[in-house]
Amino acid sequence: MARSTKRKRRLLTRTGGYLAGYDYTLNPFVGCAYGCLYCYVQALPIARFRRERWGSYADIKPVDPETWQNELRGARRRGATRIFMSSSTDPYQPAEWRAGVTRSVLMTMAAEPSLVDFLFVQTRSPLVVRDIDLLKALGDRVLVSVTLETDREDVRRRFAPHAPTVRARIRALESLRAAGIPVQVAVAPLLPSSPDFPHLIASLADFVAIDDWFVGDGARGTRSLALGVDRLYLPEERDAWFHPRAARTFAQRLADAMARDRIYLHQQGFLPTNARHPFDEGNDSPHA
Ligand code: SF4
Repeated sequence: MARSTKRKRRLLTRTGGYLAGYDYTLNPFVGCAYGCLYCYVQALPIARFRRERWGSYADIKPVDPETWQNELRGARRRGATRIFMSSSTDPYQPAEWRAGVTRSVLMTMAAEPSLVDFLFVQTRSPLVVRDIDLLKALGDRVLVSVTLETDREDVRRRFAPHAPTVRARIRALESLRAAGIPVQVAVAPLLPSSPDFPHLIASLADFVAIDDWFVGDGARGTRSLALGVDRLYLPEERDAWFHPRAARTFAQRLADAMARDRIYLHQQGFLPTNARHPFDEGNDSPHA
């Protein structure tokens, strides 16, 4: 269910931690209708205090264009504006089709690109294609990172049954790339996939970010285990895909299909593009 809060709220939140490299996060919604079974956000206090099933709500933060423009200009006056959208929701919720809050956010940025040093858009929704005109206006100040954890629809249905299909995400990546927008495939979290997946990724994206349960949940995998992600694997998938070396093994397979300097592991794949270190032998530390 999507509710709209009348109260005007700030959109930018100061950040750090796993998102070091950014100055702000921007979450246009509270909650997430995709409700991926593995989503660690549902275990955070912000979701636990809500006492509603994760995936059953995505409240809209209304955007007043003038207030938002003033907020963004104020942030620019104070210093750098590297923005991660979004850290605890997907900015392209089903409700975004009507609400247009993410579009409003982008309209202000597109009208004055100098207000934004860098915008990282993390989504799994094909709706991002609607905003190609605005994303284009940001040039190389933007990177659109589309989650594609697997190319297998059966696996997608098992781990994220309410998320957009694999095919819809591939089409979105193709449209973004054709429009000249910098794009990344986020294989995060890494799920079981077909042998052809590395070649598909190489054909779709400028960059690829790979993350897993053991680093990506920010709690050495304990958060993911508490959610029961291990029980979502078929017995025959476990040995190959559910262990701390799986991300590195996948990166090595990917390196046969695309240049190593386009492949990023763990936190590196979510940093601004000018602050990253690519995957290479002996350098896959999340803090490298
Ligand atoms: S789309 Fe992202 S924020 Fe939403 S439930 Fe899935 S993992 Fe969580």
